Amino acid sequence: MNKIHFVGAGPGDKELITLKGHKHLSEADIVIYAGSLVNPELLEYCKEGCEIYDSASMNLDEIIAVMKRGTEENKKVVRLQTGDFSIYGSIREQAEELSKLNIAYDCTPGVSSFLGAASALGVEYTVPEVSQSVIITRAEGRTPVPPKESLQSFAAHQTSMVIFLSVQMIGKVVKQLIEGGYPEDTDIAVVYKATWQDEKIIKGALKDIEDKVKENGIHKTALIMVGRFLGSEYKYSKLYDKDFSHEYRS
Ligand code: SAH
Repeated sequence: MNKIHFVGAGPGDKELITLKGHKHLSEADIVIYAGSLVNPELLEYCKEGCEIYDSASMNLDEIIAVMKRGTEENKKVVRLQTGDFSIYGSIREQAEELSKLNIAYDCTPGVSSFLGAASALGVEYTVPEVSQSVIITRAEGRTPVPPKESLQSFAAHQTSMVIFLSVQMIGKVVKQLIEGGYPEDTDIAVVYKATWQDEKIIKGALKDIEDKVKENGIHKTALIMVGRFLGSEYKYSKLYDKDFSHEYRS
């Protein structure tokens, strides 16, 4: 029986899918794509006659039913997910349902939007001696977040943070970050539709970002990035320091 192929579509720019993802997409007989976030230009890679489903208006049972029929008909089925499916990709529930039906699957990773957003800004999350960790998280909304993962608690680390799925609550996010210990003048950026043609970058400080985001009418498809990695402080890495020898350079 054919496998289901989960493919990460990348953050938007249609050239940011992997070669392997592109291969799967161009060979697919059935594609189920997340229409709310995947750039439809990627569907140009599909062959003629490929059946295309937009999962935005489907529930889990309907998605699984299309996958099941596809495998029964010996068709190549691709599930095209935004960015990389390992981050807020709801792949777990799909995988569990497929296992119940004894349908196998494989996965081809994609470029997550938090990487696309860093490229849009041309920044490094891990600036030597400024920040060496990245927290990927979201604010609590209709989807609960475990209490130990509150934005306030993460803010205490003062390391690089990327907040998904939360720009519509920017006011609440800012309040929690400040409550957690970030100074009000901490650098923050909001990247809307990173790597898309209509990408927008908004930079500010915790104290003024809410107004800027609202003035720009941004309420979805954006990431909030916060931390000193966005600021003017930096140190050079040891890796390329001429006085620093290592395994590959003496
Ligand atoms: N699996 C995806 C994330 C899905 S959750 C990934 O790896 O990127 C959906 C959220 O991702 C959106 O609410 C937004 O916060 C973020 N997102 C997805 N694509 C984006 C893009 N191109 N630019 C900015 N944020 C994006």
